[in-house]
Amino acid sequence: MELLEQYIREKGVVKEGNVLKVDSFLNHQMDVHLFSEMGREWKRLFADAPINKILTIEASGIGIACIAAQMFEVPVVFAKKAQSINIDGEVYASKVESFTHKRVYDVIVSKKFLSPEDHILVIDDFLANGCAVNGLIDIIEASGATLEGVGIAVEKGFQEGGKLLRERGVRLESLAIVDAMDAKTGELTFRH
Ligand code: 5GP
Repeated sequence: MELLEQYIREKGVVKEGNVLKVDSFLNHQMDVHLFSEMGREWKRLFADAPINKILTIEASGIGIACIAAQMFEVPVVFAKKAQSINIDGEVYASKVESFTHKRVYDVIVSKKFLSPEDHILVIDDFLANGCAVNGLIDIIEASGATLEGVGIAVEKGFQEGGKLLRERGVRLESLAIVDAMDAKTGELTFRH
């Protein structure tokens, strides 16, 4: 998606450790005009899918998922980060290893909000190794709902998450794929 690539080129900052900082428009300050265009693009890409719910993960997926949900006219459910101690039979739970914080945490979704009748689009801001998305897919599978696809804002194509999802046959639509980035020069290469 041209507009997102333009934002990344102009406002993104490449950090050491394969981290792309986009906090001026995507996951701290949020550019809602950009989010609307992203939502419209996912709606176009998934026009044929019978999506009735969007699933994301707190915190940074929530903003983009909500704006996308306006385009799809469906509710958004976000998986919550929880203490293991609070996990009971009322929730679906999975473990996710945080790419940016390097620790494992539990994510939960109440059983009230996912059922076998649901057709889910997963939305998140970044795809790196795929831990966050895989945790959400585990939860969808446990609920008996159908995974219709995954919409990602920025996929880092040099990490393995996207490749593994595509190999599993998951319908993955990343709006920008960064194939290489250099923290020293700030140079970014996009996949087209
Ligand atoms: P994964 O679970 O695919 O390894 O990593 C995805 C999650 O880690 C996303 O939810 C995102 O919050 C965070 N993340 C991964 N890579 C980056 C990055 O380069 N920049 C930022 N800002 N977040 C990232």
